[in-house]
Amino acid sequence: MIIGELMTEIVAGVSPADRLADAVAIMCEKKCSCVLVSESGFPKGIITERDIVRIFSDTLVSQKISNATVAQVMSKDPVCVQQTTSLYDALVLARSRKLRHLLVINEHEQLVGLVTQTDMVDAYVHLIERQSQLETENHELHLLSNEDALMKIGNRRAMEVELNFTEASARRYKKGYAVALMDVDFFKKYNDYYGHQRGDNALRALADVIKESMRVSDRAYRYGGEEILLLMPETNAEDAIVASERVRAAVEAMALPHSESPFKCLTISVGVAASCDQSWQQLLELADQALYDAKNSGRNKVVVSPQ
Ligand code: GH3
Ligand code: MG
Ligand code: MG
Repeated sequence: MIIGELMTEIVAGVSPADRLADAVAIMCEKKCSCVLVSESGFPKGIITERDIVRIFSDTLVSQKISNATVAQVMSKDPVCVQQTTSLYDALVLARSRKLRHLLVINEHEQLVGLVTQTDMVDAYVHLIERQSQLETENHELHLLSNEDALMKIGNRRAMEVELNFTEASARRYKKGYAVALMDVDFFKKYNDYYGHQRGDNALRALADVIKESMRVSDRAYRYGGEEILLLMPETNAEDAIVASERVRAAVEAMALPHSESPFKCLTISVGVAASCDQSWQQLLELADQALYDAKNSGRNKVVVSPQ
């Protein structure tokens, strides 16, 4: 099933210059939880109940917003999916971003509708109900999980959905993004010396430290084995290096003993790449090359792709 079959076509739309009061009146009248903001058909923002609550809270403090326009209050650069996006991919995106509304655009990037998380969950549950065999159901439910069981960070599938989305969004809003590929140093030796079970524990501890030291706007995914990908939306190379270096230093500061490593503790090497017009596959290749350079020039360091 694709999103175009499921979405609500635009019923309530405003433009950024409209008065906020008119937008709120539409929400009241039509009993809808959001209004879409567009200009010449292109998505510009979304006003949701959350935005109204936020502005109401500000009003209680300042009382200064009677002439506010929609553009001043809306959530900008709204998260958009294509009409042809699969239900599964859109659901993974909404869940990982904790979003209740996704704007739907066509192949010309123009706004055509809206899909809510409730719409998607309902449709997904219906799909599963239609499957007659319990086994298939379990398999489908398992697929819905976008978390890696060991590290409790996003899994590879969620990573690909998010990278596809981040790439499209970077092109649409002309905002670059960065990735950092992190790989544990001498992890084979760690497993050989301490055993696989303690190796697993080390990976859990590593993921916890990464989660604590990364910025809230960034997201971590298990890329595979002992490799983690940090996705940094709206970030240039310089800021990505700073953020990655903070994570690398935090892993070293954890001081998890690794007697077989020259650093005597668990460390990671990091390859960073940033762009706004390259595909995520190209960006990952650059980050992989930078990681290779980090490994070859001593490990336990951050190297940025020269491009
Ligand atoms: P380098 O510094 O060059 O990265 O050396 P390395 O030993 O880390 O590299 P290599 O790729 O040779 O080894 C990776 C090891 O990570 C081997 C594999 O058994 C281990 N590994 C991958 N996934 C898991 C896992 O889920 N649990 C455990 N315990 N080990 C894992
Ligand atoms: Mg590796
Ligand atoms: Mg390694």
